[in-house]
Amino acid sequence: MSGLTYVLEVAAPHEHLLDVTVRVPCDALGEQVDLTLPAWCPGSYLIRDYARMIRDLEVTGDDGARRSAAKTDKSSWRVERKGARVLTVRYRVYGHDLSVRTNHVDASHAFVHGPATFLYVEALRRQPCSVEVRVPDGWRLAAGLPRAGATDVDPFGDGAGTVTLVAANVDELFDGPIHLGATSHWRFTAGGVPVELAVWGDRVSGGAFTVDDLVRDLAAIVDDHVARFGEAPFRFYTFVLMLSHDSYGGLEHGMSSINLHNPRALAVRKEYEGLLELLSHELFHAWNGKRIAPPQLLDFDYGREAYTRCLWVVEGITSHFDRWALRTSRRITARSYLEKVLDDWTRLLATPGRRRHSLEESSFDAWIKLYKPDESNLNTTVSYYLKGGLVLTALDLEIRRRTEGSRSLDDVMRALWTQFGRRRVGYPEQLQPFFEEASGLDLSAVFERCVRGTDDPDLPGELAAVGLDLRASHDPALVADGLQAVWIGATAQAPMARITGVLDGGPAQQAGIAPGDELIAIDGFRVISDGDVRGLLGLRRPGDVAELALFRRGRLLRLPVTVAAAPPTRFEIAGAAEVDEVRAARWQAWMGEPHPGPQVLATIATAARGL
Ligand SMILES: [Zn+2]
Repeated sequence: MSGLTYVLEVAAPHEHLLDVTVRVPCDALGEQVDLTLPAWCPGSYLIRDYARMIRDLEVTGDDGARRSAAKTDKSSWRVERKGARVLTVRYRVYGHDLSVRTNHVDASHAFVHGPATFLYVEALRRQPCSVEVRVPDGWRLAAGLPRAGATDVDPFGDGAGTVTLVAANVDELFDGPIHLGATSHWRFTAGGVPVELAVWGDRVSGGAFTVDDLVRDLAAIVDDHVARFGEAPFRFYTFVLMLSHDSYGGLEHGMSSINLHNPRALAVRKEYEGLLELLSHELFHAWNGKRIAPPQLLDFDYGREAYTRCLWVVEGITSHFDRWALRTSRRITARSYLEKVLDDWTRLLATPGRRRHSLEESSFDAWIKLYKPDESNLNTTVSYYLKGGLVLTALDLEIRRRTEGSRSLDDVMRALWTQFGRRRVGYPEQLQPFFEEASGLDLSAVFERCVRGTDDPDLPGELAAVGLDLRASHDPALVADGLQAVWIGATAQAPMARITGVLDGGPAQQAGIAPGDELIAIDGFRVISDGDVRGLLGLRRPGDVAELALFRRGRLLRLPVTVAAAPPTRFEIAGAAEVDEVRAARWQAWMGEPHPGPQVLATIATAARGL
């Protein structure tokens, strides 16, 4: 049975339109042919109804006569074959949403996301397919799919003119993003495979890092991931990096990733390390998430939600290893690694919803919670990225401690790769027995408390076991002035003083403050920014009553609020004062350098994040 063949053109960039032609061989199909587009895409758990972007659909038979196409549901068209052996379907796709999982077309580039672009026929989904891409003059192609006729030695070609991409089936086609634009390309070999980095968009001038730094560091990260699993799951790999103002995101694919970052990516160390973490994250998914995955994420129903309780495995493990690989590949210092862990820890503690939702529940509800953020999420759920990453970081330390350094989470990952990922077999919902077999430990406590339950991981305890103190305190400058940290238990949109969230049971909720309120004055003094609010409230003492003036739906309200003592706003990880030989040896085995002694290694101040 032959499969679908597509032609892709960027005919009208100023109208943000892609022109797509698909040739549908009909011999094995019935009298009615159903064309459909996914409602969502793997890796991003939201019903997006991509078909709303399709326009001007026309169908002709191989006799040259038009065929009618009628919608049968929001994502599907039914065509009467009327004897045609081949149907040719032409349509246009609108794309003007710059993200990693939607199309974006303008005069500078075209990012083409397969599930949002290529109509398919379910009966032909398992057949090989191809896309003939007509690359506009002056642009180059970067794509996560093999090129027809290319070799493993030179898999990328020059990316100009007409390039034919091939896929073993429609799922693979959807997993191969296509980027066209005036991109800069770097190619290198890492982990034993050819790797391409294609960068689109402008970087800010100057900065501490260069693309050469990025290429060198990326090669080390690829080497590290491949070494961890013992083999690469792809014959070549493409990183597409799109730089755009105020942008951030990534989407994993089997042999590529799409990454979006702001133009300051190479400016200063913190931003640069954030970029490395993003690229490391999406690459790690080539093993974990794309191949080591629950069955719901290996075989898709593109028309409806794919529910799984295991997104904490897909994203939590990846969140742990994205930063840990930066350390094991020696791209970042131990201090920088600890700072990343500490930053996540403070964000977890600031999420009251972690007491309501377990990692399994948060995974299952991704479609209506994490991907549909609203002001109540803070109180009702917890990110399986955030908590998942910390649970796995603590679990890695626990496995190392209890096995006296003979096992780690790496052993669990290799076992999951061998048993499931390499064989492309979906794993069962309860992974505890596999973690236990690979580590040789009874891990029922952590799974019961932190995965199926709502407890925090014992990160402070595990850090103590490698000779570190995790401390919480208040801003020393405030304390020096004899003041005490206070809060009202709300979040605000910086730089405005608009309330975005109200913590359950906090002073703001008790006073009747609601998400959406715009604060304009405190005790009669005008406030314009969230910083102004903190500046005025910060002078009060627990139990003081402040009068907040605010607009709600255009009406002025004055509400008295009793401010309360704030939770800690300053967190530190420091080397413990007394470190015995056992702890010092554990640190050495973990970080690969001598214990630093009693000094502060990482500090995070959280006062600026809330009110
Ligand atoms: Zn991810």
